[in-house]
Amino acid sequence: MKLRVDGLTDNPVERHLSVSPAWWAERVAGSTDDSHEWVGEPGFDLRASMLGQDILLEGSFAGEMEVACSRCLKRYRQPLRESWRLVLEPVGARTPPDPEGVEMLERDGLCLADDLDVGWYRGKTLELDPFLGEVVSLAMPLQPLCRENCAGLCPRCGIDRNQESCDCSEINADSPFAALAALKKKSGGSG
Ligand SMILES: [Zn+2]
Ligand SMILES: [Zn+2]
Repeated sequence: MKLRVDGLTDNPVERHLSVSPAWWAERVAGSTDDSHEWVGEPGFDLRASMLGQDILLEGSFAGEMEVACSRCLKRYRQPLRESWRLVLEPVGARTPPDPEGVEMLERDGLCLADDLDVGWYRGKTLELDPFLGEVVSLAMPLQPLCRENCAGLCPRCGIDRNQESCDCSEINADSPFAALAALKKKSGGSG
């Protein structure tokens, strides 16, 4: 999505942008995680205005994605929400401190700080797609969970602990004591 700077005033203009699967595929190109799928039509609502010399971009993202639970591997629908407020200052004679920033300013007409709420711009047209891609990435859960207390799969026998239980279920295989506990059990200890 391109935004023309010279048309902006202190009166916000509002835009809606739908996220197509193709748009998103381009944003996550190179990422190894292709296991998620959009449900319905996710989109951005964006308000752009001038604050003196600065550009104020406020907006929100809402969508729903089908992802795999990181514990039980079941696919489920994860609602995604993210809102932001970004202030872009004219870059003037400054140079972004990192090569990525220099490249982004060159390519998109803007560059951002790490926390995505401030940045610099230059020129009359801004390409917002990389920024919007970051917003969606932020909305996505690092460790998707089908429900907060998902019991996951048994690391030993692999059954879904949400549905059945097994004999090994009381031993946490991630624990450093798991091996010891298993040993105790084998030797008939009273653990
Ligand atoms: Zn789960
Ligand atoms: Zn088990």
